[in-house]
Amino acid sequence: MKGLIFELSIPKYVLAKGIGGMYPKLHYGRGSCLSLRELASPTLPGPDWVRLRPLAVNPLLPCRLRGIQPPCKPCASGQENGCENTAEGCLAPGQMLGFQKDLPGGMSTEMVAHPSQLHPLPQGVGDKAGVLVGAAGLLERVDWTTVWRNELTLLGAYVYGPERFRDGRKHTFDLVLELLARREGPDPSMLVTTHTFPLARYQEAIEANLARGRHQSVKTVFDLRENP
Ligand SMILES: [Zn+2]
Repeated sequence: MKGLIFELSIPKYVLAKGIGGMYPKLHYGRGSCLSLRELASPTLPGPDWVRLRPLAVNPLLPCRLRGIQPPCKPCASGQENGCENTAEGCLAPGQMLGFQKDLPGGMSTEMVAHPSQLHPLPQGVGDKAGVLVGAAGLLERVDWTTVWRNELTLLGAYVYGPERFRDGRKHTFDLVLELLARREGPDPSMLVTTHTFPLARYQEAIEANLARGRHQSVKTVFDLRENP
């Protein structure tokens, strides 16, 4: 499989932190810590984990998936998004898929996840609309990508978890998918996904995110279906 790899090199990292503002390609160009590589397929952590086809994936790796008993206080109360164990248990350190060494994220041609992390797209919700689920802030018209990218601090809200909405309580992903299926979310004809790239053009994808005004970009995604 192919995947984007961030391989930490202290000199490259220090150089990018120091003058990356003036020379952004130090963060993602040739000679940076980021590269597209041919990789071995990730190993399944256990028999109940699966390889993925297109789906919405909740990337969190809480106590339950780390085999930790008893779970931490937030997990025990059903707030797995507040899990305090990000480096313990049977998985490598890292709070979510794509942010730890054994379980790569979606910037690759394959990934693995636990079945409980999967949220199938309902009838009528296409791939492009499904992309919005990860940016679940659409409920409040917030572009969470900007929040992540600028490392802003938010108090009182974090990633995906149980949501109170109207008369019920549902997981963020299920709620957003339901709204998309009911067309209560954004009109799929006016989706915020403005740019798609094959993985091989990842540097252009990063540039489209860095210079949003020039590229007129809102959400940039990798489309691996035909030409990864
Ligand atoms: Zn926990």
